[in-house]
Amino acid sequence: MSTTEIPRLDAASLRADFPILDQLIGGERLVYLDSGATSQKPRSVIDAEVAFLTRANSAVHRGAHTLAAEATDLYEDARATVAGFVGAAPENLVWTSGATAALNLVAYSIGNATAGRGAPASAPLALHPGDEIVVTESEHHANLIPWQELAARTGTVLRHIPVHDDGTLDLDAAASVIGARTRVVAFTHVSNVLGIVNPVVELVALARAVGALTVLDACQSAPHLALDLPALGVDLAAFSGHKMLGPYGVGALYGRTEVLEALPTFLTGGSMVTTVTLDDAEFLPPPQKFEAGTQPVSQTIALAEAVRYLQNLGMDAVQSHEHTIERRMMAGLRGIPGVRLLGDAEGVSRVGLASFDVDGVHAHDVGQFLDARGIAVRVGHHCAKPLHARFGITASVRASASVFTTEDDVDALLEGVSGVRAYFGVGA
Ligand code: PLP
Repeated sequence: MSTTEIPRLDAASLRADFPILDQLIGGERLVYLDSGATSQKPRSVIDAEVAFLTRANSAVHRGAHTLAAEATDLYEDARATVAGFVGAAPENLVWTSGATAALNLVAYSIGNATAGRGAPASAPLALHPGDEIVVTESEHHANLIPWQELAARTGTVLRHIPVHDDGTLDLDAAASVIGARTRVVAFTHVSNVLGIVNPVVELVALARAVGALTVLDACQSAPHLALDLPALGVDLAAFSGHKMLGPYGVGALYGRTEVLEALPTFLTGGSMVTTVTLDDAEFLPPPQKFEAGTQPVSQTIALAEAVRYLQNLGMDAVQSHEHTIERRMMAGLRGIPGVRLLGDAEGVSRVGLASFDVDGVHAHDVGQFLDARGIAVRVGHHCAKPLHARFGITASVRASASVFTTEDDVDALLEGVSGVRAYFGVGA
């Protein structure tokens, strides 16, 4: 489809679908630019969760009564809907409580392949002292600390691919960091600080060439880009519902069939077994073998509704809208004296997210100044401390968009940021 054929999103009208936006903050219209932290939820998503709890609530995969059967159908339909959204089959999608849980699941399961009960069967995934795990310098802590912990538990070495000054990944360095000892390459699709879309296919090719497992953090791409995880070629990928118009408490791990079969379990307990004796247990095949305990049923159903909302808009239209917002935001911020954008690379793909530093004013002060004007942004290190250290700062201001973000929202942000330094008496 050419760009001209992509339908335009009418973000101003979409605002009416999001009840929370219909309020004043300190007397000002709410300009919500913190969707990178958590997006707002359309009425249909809120209604879907309430409707399930009101009319169909029951435990899934147990019980023979009518409600249990209905709940199970809704729950498995939700899995098919969310899996389809990322180009996957239902059996390749494991429910988790979020991306952090999904990434920890992978790291702990690989640890169990190394030293746990699953060890002999999953030997190809086992790590040995001196093996290497590779991440990037731009990871969210959720895709960094689980690997630090795994490296410490298994005596392996954690290495990283650096980013250039303009925020892009140093692919030359990647080609030398990923080598014969690399067993896992874990990287973010889109940095939650830079908004830059990383070259997944190139990184997967480097990892495959040395037989390493690839783990994609798709948290900041799933809400904004048309995703086809099998086509990207990654072995495993994680994302969170609450960042993609869905509820809290639900996320997913996508995995290729062979990889999910080879990965040992992490959490064990009810719902994931075929037989259990006092001495032993046999596990269900994936995805259930990773879904021990009572699952977040109402949340999965609401997440499926969020996916339907995005699909009705069309992910091409979502992407194109956010591109318009991103260009206006980046160009405007670039033009404000004293503002330094993090990751100001030209000619790269981005989502609608920009982080910046205002010379002489602490990020928290910028955040409060904007909040007084009804503008909600994120301030701090955004759970990416090493990346901030790379840019020589401890905190930044992040503005991030969603389908309901309008050009007026961006203009309000730009006007607000333009007034910050004068207000704080800096650089006059
Ligand atoms: N990865 C990225 C890139 C993120 O932006 C986030 C959340 O901010 C996470 C992982 C963790 O997601 P959650 O806290 O929903 O588990």
